[in-house]
Amino acid sequence: MHTPPPPRPVAIVTGGLRGIGHAIAHRLAAEGFDLALVDLDAPGNSTDDTLTSLPASGGRARYYQLDISDIQAHDGVLSYIARDFTGPLACLVNNAGIASRPLTDVLEVDAKAFDRSLAINLRGTFFLTQAFARRLLDAPAAPGLHRCIVVITSIAAELVSVERAPYCIGKSALSTVARLFAARLAAHGIQVHEVRPGFIQTDMTASAGSNVIDQWIREGRVPMPRWGTPQDVADVVAVLASGKMPYTTGQPFWVAGGLNIARAT
Ligand code: NAD
Repeated sequence: MHTPPPPRPVAIVTGGLRGIGHAIAHRLAAEGFDLALVDLDAPGNSTDDTLTSLPASGGRARYYQLDISDIQAHDGVLSYIARDFTGPLACLVNNAGIASRPLTDVLEVDAKAFDRSLAINLRGTFFLTQAFARRLLDAPAAPGLHRCIVVITSIAAELVSVERAPYCIGKSALSTVARLFAARLAAHGIQVHEVRPGFIQTDMTASAGSNVIDQWIREGRVPMPRWGTPQDVADVVAVLASGKMPYTTGQPFWVAGGLNIARAT
């Protein structure tokens, strides 16, 4: 008699419609996850393109419109996701974020820009993680199911840029958020990983003009002398989400071509 395969675990990727989040969604689909993509766009062409390309690897993908800074909406969206898929919630990838634009000297940053950046990159991500973690703790873990949370921070969690103060502050605090949830959830078998991308070629970096980074690469200030790709980040997230590193939690994984190496000369 034919036994149906077990339902695929569900991964949620915020900011999954483009850039790094889009690449992560594709890698996780190939790893055997069903995908819930969360992003700002109204359902339409870009969501359709993403959703039709994802099931190529056999899974299902659905789109949920959510501004993660709207924390009152988090629980409702998580309920829809739990209802729409047959498999268990297994992974949240906190990828959505905004850059500091325009670039502004730390002496000139105003409260509005500061609050907006922190509302998305820190507050929104913190409360979505909290809501997701509560759901995992309320649901008995299926045998063999690996559950985890991935937080995409940035090299800005450690390296300061005086023209990106709100971004640096948010990402360094987000690194602490990852460690807090890692400590709280470790005994429940839920891993929390921080991933720190370096200079990755996406719309976000293009919006600052990439000349400075091109110059840095030419001057050898990035040990691996090239831009990173969304795929470089997605490859690391896929390993972490698949549970192949079972005795690690709460630590940053730099995906930055060696920018993590502090050099004296
Ligand atoms: P991107 O701007 O290309 O894509 C970001 C995605 O997040 C978009 O789909 C956008 O619509 C979505 N998003 C933005 N605000 C949102 C909100 N409030 N609610 C829901 N969705 C929202 O950016 P990217 O380069 O792919 O960056 C993805 C993540 O990686 C960000 O957290 C960013 O800070 C981080 N990161 C990027 C780089 C880089 O060089 N590109 C480096 C380090 C860290």
